[in-house]
Amino acid sequence: MKTLTVLGSINADHVISVPHFVTPGETLTGSNYHIAYGGKGANQAVAAARLGAKVNFIACIGDDDIGKTMKQAFEQDGIDTSAITTIKNEMTGIAMIQVAQSGENSIVIAAGANRHLDQALMANFTQEIQQADCLLMQLETPLPAIIEAAKLAQQHHTKVVLNPAPAQQLPDELLQHIDIITPNETEAEILTGIKVTDEKSAVESANVFHQKGIKTVLITLGSKGVFYSDGTHSKIVPGFRVQAQDTTAAGDTFNGAFVTALLENKSVDEAIHFAHAAAAISVTRQGAQPSIPTRKETLAFLT
Ligand code: ATP
Repeated sequence: MKTLTVLGSINADHVISVPHFVTPGETLTGSNYHIAYGGKGANQAVAAARLGAKVNFIACIGDDDIGKTMKQAFEQDGIDTSAITTIKNEMTGIAMIQVAQSGENSIVIAAGANRHLDQALMANFTQEIQQADCLLMQLETPLPAIIEAAKLAQQHHTKVVLNPAPAQQLPDELLQHIDIITPNETEAEILTGIKVTDEKSAVESANVFHQKGIKTVLITLGSKGVFYSDGTHSKIVPGFRVQAQDTTAAGDTFNGAFVTALLENKSVDEAIHFAHAAAAISVTRQGAQPSIPTRKETLAFLT
């Protein structure tokens, strides 16, 4: 069975439903406050594991109870947690998430232990990267270690998938080592300078990534689906119509599912179909990791 290494963040999500996003100076009464397990790295690792992949997770937690509990939850999901480091005198990362009635979310993060996932720490886990078939990363942990990991992976023929979230500028030194990039529309605009509003602008945006050496570009379009380009062929693949409750982790579920299907030697079309289904289920449920479906649930949705 092929293996996936995920390098990324772990956060405890403090989630609250709000009538609208709080505006400057406003005090707003929310409802349905709860703590859910999140962090883009963790969500993608959990998605891939629940959907059937063999997952190694390189990440950091603080020496607090929530970090310990989350690590146990990853184990219950079948993730290999031996590359999760506990950082002394540090808190596990947190995210404060407002969920509006529209289902959209707005997020503030305190990195905590995630900021310790630097080059020195990453050097302890080179085997997990070299021996994996695929390395999946996001941008909630320090960039220098992400660049090093991408270089190392490429040297060892490990496919590198980057979900460039949260949105930020990236050096060519990183982009040139990426095989597949999966921005949403906002991230694509920040990285390429092209506002993605339709298929034509998506092609232009994707071409900027291709010029930097990235073979496959997937721009996720929320409820509209995903734009796919391999530099020669491109298309928009619509997603599934569902009643969205909370889109937290939709992108993470899409990424975990897409990579899982690729590792099973599925075609890109099949992988997108599977990822759309898993992500559609996730938006019908509240929270990050609690909303991520299993393989069984996803296959049932598709029948
Ligand atoms: P997030 O940051 O909320 O995790 P994102 O911005 O990274 O998400 P999106 O582009 O919103 O990612 O969505 C990723 C995928 O999730 C889409 O390509 C689609 O498959 C699915 N999806 C998102 N929103 C919806 C929706 N309202 N209905 C059905 N599927 C959706």
